[in-house]
Amino acid sequence: MTNQNPFEVAQKQLDDCAQILKLDSSTHAILRVPMREFHVSLPVRMDDNSIKVFQGFRVQYNDSRGPTKGGIRFHPDETIDTVRALAAWMTWKCALLNLPLGGGKGGVICNPKEMSLGELERLSREYIRALNPFIGPDKDIPAPDVYTTPQIMIWMMDEYSKIYAKNQFGVITGKPIGLGGSTGRADATARGGMYAIHEAAKVLGIDLSKATVAVQGFGNAGSNAARLCKELFGCKVVAVSDSQGAICDDECLDVEAVCECKLDTCSVVNLPNAKCISNEEILELEVDILIPAALENVVTEKNAPNVKAKIVAELANGPTTPEADAILYKNGVHVIPDFLCNAGGVTVSYFEMVQNSYMYSWDEQQVYTSLEKKMVEAYHSVLNTSKEYNLNMRQAAYVLAVKRVVEAMKLRGWV
Ligand code: GLU
Repeated sequence: MTNQNPFEVAQKQLDDCAQILKLDSSTHAILRVPMREFHVSLPVRMDDNSIKVFQGFRVQYNDSRGPTKGGIRFHPDETIDTVRALAAWMTWKCALLNLPLGGGKGGVICNPKEMSLGELERLSREYIRALNPFIGPDKDIPAPDVYTTPQIMIWMMDEYSKIYAKNQFGVITGKPIGLGGSTGRADATARGGMYAIHEAAKVLGIDLSKATVAVQGFGNAGSNAARLCKELFGCKVVAVSDSQGAICDDECLDVEAVCECKLDTCSVVNLPNAKCISNEEILELEVDILIPAALENVVTEKNAPNVKAKIVAELANGPTTPEADAILYKNGVHVIPDFLCNAGGVTVSYFEMVQNSYMYSWDEQQVYTSLEKKMVEAYHSVLNTSKEYNLNMRQAAYVLAVKRVVEAMKLRGWV
């Protein structure tokens, strides 16, 4: 079944973990729902002088381990349940990476592809005006996610700073470099995923310099993943896709040319001479590594039996349904689950917060080394847990993360 409700998926994954951990029912009940959520209506002056009212959300899922942290998505199909699921996954992600942060997420129902820069700026500022009492450097710190950019982050930071009448760089991460942003944040999600893939390949005995890769989705995570696979390991990227369709080349795609084509024409499918395939086919290609890097619900019980990749590295949040998870596990596919694989983004966001708080900036090497250490540690702790308790990689990641959140709630006297 496609298009499952992402929050039901997130709850099902947690229920599974609660059973494994034999969680008591009250602790389980607290973890099953967000602690707080905000629904706001955002009137925005459009370029034609009309006023359009957008719906915005911010969900603070659990802050037992620290202020809530997570991106803001601008997407026409955004729903409160998607934001709830993403906020839950942020909670587990921050706990798994041992960051002193809780999980949150925001979203606005809008189509940025159809909005002018001016409209986007006014919407971004309105979002912060509506939510300013509830966010802050030690409360809840947003960041970029699908269709939000460093420019949007700095408009939001500026609006928040105006309200509080002082510069508040720490209120948001993913800012532009030179204005409170961290080096390495732009491609941190993909780079973190690369460090995890590198470990997985070692474990599985895959020679990355000969490995073939398919990347589904060509936004920030997907495009940087395609580039880095080649740059860091010499992998052959044989297929990529975006919302318009997919392209492949059995030999190897010219990733630079694909990136240029995406920039110039807004889609990878316009690459001259490329062989076009469907968005379904790219998931079932004979490749060593499949990287879903777009939205939820793409690997389902329908196509999971046909996935031929040895590694599925989930740079997207929630790309695999629970039914598909079971099939992949049974078929021996090594899944690097989303909140492990894509944790590089929030990890460098955390580094950005640290740098902001002492008004200093790290060089690229320091960011990369610190990120690699975090990712390698997290990957092996998940792998060891999966072996020790005979769990799949996602269940193992849940066990580690949920345990840490429960421990925090216990220490604080919440349960
Ligand atoms: N949106 C990213 C994620 O899903 C990053 C969040 C952050 O940096 O706070 O992990």
